Amino acid sequence: MAERLRQTEDSFGFTLYPDDGSLAVVANVFAHDAEQLANRRGMRQGVILGHLVAHELGHLLLGKQSHSSRGIMVPKLRTQEIRRAQKGQLLFTPEQAQQMREHQTRFLERPGMQLRVTVRVYDAVNLSWATLSQAEREAEKIFLYAGIQIAWVAGPLSAAANVETPIETLRIWPRAAAGKIPTGSETLGLCLSLETGEAVVLADVVQERSMFGSTTFADLLGITMAHELGHLLLRSEKHSVKGVMSAPFTETALADDARGRLRFTTDEGKKMRNEVKRWMLKSER
Ligand SMILES: [Zn+2]
Ligand SMILES: [Zn+2]
Repeated sequence: MAERLRQTEDSFGFTLYPDDGSLAVVANVFAHDAEQLANRRGMRQGVILGHLVAHELGHLLLGKQSHSSRGIMVPKLRTQEIRRAQKGQLLFTPEQAQQMREHQTRFLERPGMQLRVTVRVYDAVNLSWATLSQAEREAEKIFLYAGIQIAWVAGPLSAAANVETPIETLRIWPRAAAGKIPTGSETLGLCLSLETGEAVVLADVVQERSMFGSTTFADLLGITMAHELGHLLLRSEKHSVKGVMSAPFTETALADDARGRLRFTTDEGKKMRNEVKRWMLKSER
């Protein structure tokens, strides 16, 4: 958060925005003044109020010196603007529209505004703290290569939790808990629902698989968690020929992991980043 705030004054509202070019924080519209103007002009109050809100939001996204000589960002609504507003023709200029889109993209790419996913972990098998945290570090590392941070939450989110990120759910179950859900012998995990973002990792199957080959239980658990989260963020149950989204994992893939080279493909990384961005833009609105 910037330390200094500047203010733009309009007759019907004002906006406070940081001095450092980052996105503004507060916009105010005086509803009472909007009502008076609407009455004077014989207009519906909602139409005036809506345009004034859009004007102040424009200041938020356009930053300083965002008034223009035409369109919705004129400093003062004149008769011609009010006529246009009534017809739904009082708009941002194409340049302003472009600038707002760019500003939003820059905002998301700022350091500190990393793309992030919140993952709720429900551990039904009582893993040791050491195993679970090692598994989480492993999954985290794989996602960092794809430019996405993971925030782990044990169990349900508290009311105060930051939910301006996509929220996915991972359940760590014993195989028996999967019940009738069809699972092959090589299935280390499964998606419960792509819609609600829920997947399962079968801890005992992962442990058996980790008995042979070049991986540990915790690392394979982490890779499997990354794989299932991959399904959720890619919104697809498809597998790829190589990398984290291949299945079942080959010895080559696991050896790659031991050398820190097991990753999502470039294309998968891009798709997941877009998914997270879409989500974050949506919650910005
Ligand atoms: Zn203004
Ligand atoms: Zn899979």
